[in-house]
Amino acid sequence: HAKSQGRNNYQFYLPEMNEVVSRHVQIEAGLKQAIERNELYLVYQPKYTIREHKITGFEALLRWHSTELGSITPMEFIPVAEEIGMIEKIGHWVLNQACQQLSAWHQMGYTELNIAVNLSAKQLKTDLVSIVEVALGVANLPASALELEITESSIMNNPADAITIFTQLKTLGIALAIDDFGTGYSSLSYLKRFPVDTLKIDKEFIHDIDSQQADATITTAIIAMAKSLQLEVVAEGVENQQQLELLTLQECDQVQGFLFSKPRKATECTELLRAAAGAI
Ligand code: C2E
Ligand code: MG
Ligand code: MG
Ligand code: MG
Repeated sequence: HAKSQGRNNYQFYLPEMNEVVSRHVQIEAGLKQAIERNELYLVYQPKYTIREHKITGFEALLRWHSTELGSITPMEFIPVAEEIGMIEKIGHWVLNQACQQLSAWHQMGYTELNIAVNLSAKQLKTDLVSIVEVALGVANLPASALELEITESSIMNNPADAITIFTQLKTLGIALAIDDFGTGYSSLSYLKRFPVDTLKIDKEFIHDIDSQQADATITTAIIAMAKSLQLEVVAEGVENQQQLELLTLQECDQVQGFLFSKPRKATECTELLRAAAGAI
């Protein structure tokens, strides 16, 4: 009896596992060719000052439309890219592409804009500093126009490496942001030692900021801490007016979220910039 039960389990689970494995394998194979096949592209989400709702810059967000698998979210494919050692190459492509786009906007006269690029922890070694230097040089951008975002949890995975690379990146003059702040358990003493410019409050805290007292308390504390450390503070995932009002009261510096704009293709962002310039 046990044998037949085991066999039932076997038959029940195997097809499902097969499916999971094969999607993973398809993603792996697809990622290796995604750049050459022009399947990757960037979308850009504006960041706004909380007071005047002025666009300060854009965050570049990676998208992949695979011929075989359709659109796949970064939440699904970035961990795979990290696992198979492709994130360095893809990250390099993202950095160059984002710098080229910002350069185009600067040439249109929007010279105050900056661009934020997300980094994987895996990129915090190798030749990141020279890769960044070359990307800026090719796009003819000042280092101050580039901000690199790295999540708090990936920094805390290897704080020693992070401090070393961050320090080198800072000497180039670029800005550094800690992404998804509040979810990664960094100690205050570390925060003081990292040469970062910006904290981005994780959208998890923003989501219920108007209904959950604990979340409102956390954002108040993060904003106060950022101010006392003289860091810029950005709230991500702002979706409604109530959230915006609370963050305004709390004197958050910048906001990003669907209330203002979802991530968009570069041409649509140019339209946004034109409309904003026309409104002044
Ligand atoms: P992230 O850097 O924290 O980016 C914010 C995510 O929140 C984006 O998801 C964005 O589309 C989404 N978002 C923006 N506004 C709102 C809002 O009002 N409400 C909600 N619910 N969501 C909002 P996306 O584009 O799917 O990216 C997910 C994550 O994937 C990013 O989180 C980042 O960690 C990673 N990622 C994206 N592009 C890259 C990249 O080029 N390189 C690396 N290493 N990671 C990337
Ligand atoms: Mg980010
Ligand atoms: Mg984030
Ligand atoms: Mg995130």
